[in-house]
Amino acid sequence: MKIKRSYCFDDVLLVPQRSNIASRKEIDLSSQLDDKNTFDLPIISSPMDTVTESTTAIAMNHAGGLGIIHRYNTIEDQSALVRDVGEFSCDVGAAIGVSGDYFDRTANLVGAGARIICIDIAHGHHTMMRHALKELRNTYGNAIHIMAGNVATLQGFNDLADWGADSVRVGIGGGSICSTRVQTGHGVPTLQSVLDCSKSDRDATIIADGGIRTSGDIVKALAAGADFVMLGSLLAGTDESPGEEIYSGGGKYKTYRGMASVEAQIQWRGHTASVEGVSSQVPWKGSVRGVLERLERGIRSGLSYTGARTIRELQSFSEFIEQSSSGAVESSTHINNS
Ligand code: IMP
Repeated sequence: MKIKRSYCFDDVLLVPQRSNIASRKEIDLSSQLDDKNTFDLPIISSPMDTVTESTTAIAMNHAGGLGIIHRYNTIEDQSALVRDVGEFSCDVGAAIGVSGDYFDRTANLVGAGARIICIDIAHGHHTMMRHALKELRNTYGNAIHIMAGNVATLQGFNDLADWGADSVRVGIGGGSICSTRVQTGHGVPTLQSVLDCSKSDRDATIIADGGIRTSGDIVKALAAGADFVMLGSLLAGTDESPGEEIYSGGGKYKTYRGMASVEAQIQWRGHTASVEGVSSQVPWKGSVRGVLERLERGIRSGLSYTGARTIRELQSFSEFIEQSSSGAVESSTHINNS
């Protein structure tokens, strides 16, 4: 059996290129989700119950990005959250599943003003996804944007696009709170999945999802072909993220948990099925706006190292090199290593 090589974020670096960018303000980070939806910042907050409810979605939109309201609540509660965001005239997305109440849920979310519906399942390359995509597309035509996922492969990406997805979340097993690879042995490094899906000739938008820890990872994901990145841990522990503030050992924390963790499953289902996530406490990190400003500065700087004024230019000018494990050590600050 031939085993394919794959690359994760730390395996590669982008080679600096000649630049004539005088100011990072010349750089345009806007990205199109589809013909009707363009965002100034290519960042989407994940539909998780410790990341995105209305306050996160509003803050995401004010900073130029997008929030997707999670689906782990009643239809009424989720629709109310969507309406809350709409009152600030903000764009908002809302997540659904592929079974149970998903069709009624969509009708209510669309009624509440959501125009971006995210079919949010762990293994998106699935016949149930096909059924849901076809049914929603038949019902709503092009009146809504349908985001779907997650997939790890080019075939998965192409199938979801052919079944009706406008954008596809790419990445299986890379999330910071994810234990899918440990539990099931399955997954593909997120960067590799993006590199593979970027070869697609379909129009669907690529959203890199899972394992993004820094603005450097975001730049690598965009350079590899992503149009957007989706963030969980980087936006957890903010003022806006749902959940209580926890005070411990002089520090302030919030819970961040996988939606397939024991804790999330017990809360939302009352029992556990397959456990593929963990729950953790992350240090408080201030406002979503502050986090996004820091990330945006790093991304702009990243584009300027490639001499790129837009994400498209980044994708065409960038050159990846593989780095050794000692290169990876050199790449992170190492003043305290010796
Ligand atoms: P992070 O940005 O590395 O924290 O990853 C967030 C992503 O992990 C989400 O957008 C989901 O795609 C994925 N995810 C969320 N909950 C779980 C889980 O319980 N198990 C596996 N993956 C998860």
